[in-house]
Amino acid sequence: MSQQPRYFIKTYGCQMNERDSEIMAGQLDQMGYQPAASDRDADLIVINTCAVRGSAEEHAFGYIGQLRQLKDERPGMTLAVAGCMAQEAGTIAWLKKHAPQVDLVFGTHNMHQLPEMLDRAAESDEMVVDVWQSAGEVVEHLPSRRKDGVRAFVNIIYGCDKFCTYCIVPFTRGRERSREMEPIIEEVRALADEGYQDITVLGQNVNSYGHDLEPARDLADLLVELEKVDGVRWLRYTTPHPRDFSQKLIDAIADSQKITRHVHLPVQAGSNPILKRMNRKYTKEAYLDLIERVKLKIPDASLTTDIIVGFPGETEADFEETLDVVRRVRYDSAFTFIYSARERTPAARWEGRDPVPNQVKKDRLNRLMALQYQISLEANEQLVGKQELVLVEGVSKKNDRVWACRTHNNKVVLIDRDPAEDLIDRFVPVRITGAKTFYLTGQQAGRPVSPPSPRRRVELPMV
Ligand code: SAM
Ligand code: SF4
Repeated sequence: MSQQPRYFIKTYGCQMNERDSEIMAGQLDQMGYQPAASDRDADLIVINTCAVRGSAEEHAFGYIGQLRQLKDERPGMTLAVAGCMAQEAGTIAWLKKHAPQVDLVFGTHNMHQLPEMLDRAAESDEMVVDVWQSAGEVVEHLPSRRKDGVRAFVNIIYGCDKFCTYCIVPFTRGRERSREMEPIIEEVRALADEGYQDITVLGQNVNSYGHDLEPARDLADLLVELEKVDGVRWLRYTTPHPRDFSQKLIDAIADSQKITRHVHLPVQAGSNPILKRMNRKYTKEAYLDLIERVKLKIPDASLTTDIIVGFPGETEADFEETLDVVRRVRYDSAFTFIYSARERTPAARWEGRDPVPNQVKKDRLNRLMALQYQISLEANEQLVGKQELVLVEGVSKKNDRVWACRTHNNKVVLIDRDPAEDLIDRFVPVRITGAKTFYLTGQQAGRPVSPPSPRRRVELPMV
């Protein structure tokens, strides 16, 4: 049996947290660790936390609590808490009081120093807390172990300057810092050489990219350069802010063969007074005008969004405005959330004074979801009978006789699987035969249009 120490990383939250975990895994690989199959087999457990909503925090606290028993059984193991929650003073106080089993706590800004922090934790009898209040320079050339077998994610901008009044991200992730274009292009070239064909560039506010560079650049400039990379077939970007979604970007998507026709535009709310108090910096009318311009230039785009219900002071009439936006835009799908008060944000103070009752929040969420599910189903039904090109991502988790695939505009398609042929990581034409709310079903309609990937791994994540 190998003597190498083993690590397990538990990740909560968004794609940026997933990417941070890949970089931590890369550093641990370089230190001679190897991945463990589960937390029970690990010598080091890193819990990479999310602070965006109370529910994510509760899950992380629950998991940290459960690990106490594991640590009692194997006192030699190391427990580390990382990520957005670690940036909050309340979390550190909670850990000190309730989770003495934790050896190391570090935040979002010093993850690149993981090896050195682990050394310090090994030498200390006390919990080591190393949380930076602000970020340093962007650090390039960190190692990484990519988790996903088919799609690759590339950070292009860190932090957020928007300060929406409900959101903790500007506090946990700091001010915006863009990477220079050249190292991003190099990273994407290297990924394409490895065989990755579906690349997503990432930022909390991805279309603010480049305003802080000298000379200033923007997301459209970057995507146009990335399109030139041989081997990349699909280019995605997440998450954009409607305020910064320029006509130049719309035109770049419309003119591109590679930038996928999926436009995610988080609206958050439909009522102008609520949007103003959220500090979203657009009105309902400006948002709907943006959607019209997207539909005009990119008629085949799928449109998705994020919506919060129950923001402090939201009235029934305000909520009706949100439903009105959903009816008008007819999103393909939406992430819907109940407002969750976050320490240090202005809206948390308003929640103390003018909260929407819990039951009303839940009822609004249910009404919103019912409307959106109906629209999602109708949008998917429109695709039945059409031919689409899909990227085969893996074997379906629920049924091993089915491949889980994705279209350029982010729709999941399930197709029958012939176990004799490995289609993972290949582009395949399919005919859509059925529609459900969250996915489509289809039949293979021809040979794969891409050769087998040089990077094909035996074990790929299921979708
Ligand atoms: N930057 C993106 C934008 O501007 O829309 C979104 C990033 S945020 C981490 C992801 C989503 O979480 C947001 O779009 C919002 O809908 C939701 N969210 C953020 N803070 C929230 C809160 N306090 N309560 C409920 N949902 C929240
Ligand atoms: Fe949060 Fe607003 Fe920044 Fe998005 S734009 S991360 S919602 S503060």
